[in-house]
Amino acid sequence: MTQKDSYEVVVVGGGTAGLSAALVLGRARRRTLVVDAGEPRNAPAAHMHGYLSRDGMPPAEFLALGREEIARYGVELVRDRAVDVGKDGDFAVALASGRTVHARRLLIATGLKDELPAVPGVAERFGRDVLHCPYCHGWEVRDQAFGVLATSPMSVHQALMVTQWSKDVTFFLHKVSEEELSDDDLRRLATAGVKVVPGEVTGLVTQDDRLTGVGLADGTTHHREVLFVAPRAVPQTDLLRRLGAELRETPFGAYPVVDETGLTTVPGVWSAGNARGFAEQVVNAAAGGYRAGSTINGELLMSDLDATVRV
Ligand SMILES: Cc1cc2nc3c(=O)[nH]c(=O)nc-3n(C[C@H](O)[C@H](O)[C@H](O)COP(=O)(O)OP(=O)(O)OC[C@H]3O[C@@H](n4cnc5c(N)ncnc54)[C@H](O)[C@@H]3O)c2cc1C
Repeated sequence: MTQKDSYEVVVVGGGTAGLSAALVLGRARRRTLVVDAGEPRNAPAAHMHGYLSRDGMPPAEFLALGREEIARYGVELVRDRAVDVGKDGDFAVALASGRTVHARRLLIATGLKDELPAVPGVAERFGRDVLHCPYCHGWEVRDQAFGVLATSPMSVHQALMVTQWSKDVTFFLHKVSEEELSDDDLRRLATAGVKVVPGEVTGLVTQDDRLTGVGLADGTTHHREVLFVAPRAVPQTDLLRRLGAELRETPFGAYPVVDETGLTTVPGVWSAGNARGFAEQVVNAAAGGYRAGSTINGELLMSDLDATVRV
């Protein structure tokens, strides 16, 4: 192992969570490497919302600023993908490029992938007028004609939530049958004024690169300007699994069991951001990264002091 490949901390994932941790670690003078594959979750969106003082900023610009900030404190960042990890004394992280880097502590901030419903047009328009999160984009499309594509009976919750942003909401049952909805669901939908339309959605209609309608298998088209969907969340926990971290099943995927600092059940391994939990928005990811980074620094300090005392 060369000194060049040996770090105190390796952060896997250079999205908001990873960069936030790296900023703290760099400022705490820790030799830190960020390994980032460069595919942040919110890349399809032109603007990021709900982050105090950065509301409306393009996500790519936000991350570019973060990369500039960590570089000021000597943190290294490589565009690469961690493909394997093991522990033999230190952690050894194998990268797709063939390089192996070593670290005393690891932060896994690899985010999650959104698996979109297989309806033609949905993937192409995701982040523009096909949306998943009203907190991220609801204000920008307020009072427009909304559709909500059911992917499971849980989509009722999304159909009800978006009525906070428009009173014109159509809930497309798609492959869910009305019998799968509870009496409470149906009562709430009716009270909220949500129109329920049965039948499979087969495609989207656009004009001048804007959504204008939702097409059904029976040949009808419903005029809609925005379609909300619920992607299946696929947390990027492969490295955590390889390390033997305990995961817990949730309705939104399996996430690591962590304490409040993001420490997983594997000593020396932390997790932050969407790799740690489904509900982590950008501001939460930044906060979780900060917390994990500062905890890692403190833990390294104490463990070195204890090792010195023992000698
Ligand atoms: C369309 C869309 C719009 C959104 N808009 C908003 C919004 O307006 N406001 C808001 O608060 N939230 C928004 N979000 C949620 C936001 O994307 C997440 O909260 C945020 O990205 C979480 O940050 P993260 O650092 O955990 O993960 P990410 O930003 O996804 O970063 C993870 C990074 O890790 C890298 N990576 C993964 N695996 C590896 C590996 N093995 N080796 C190396 N690198 C790896 C990825 O390539 C990526 O660069 C939006 C999400 C979507 C899908």
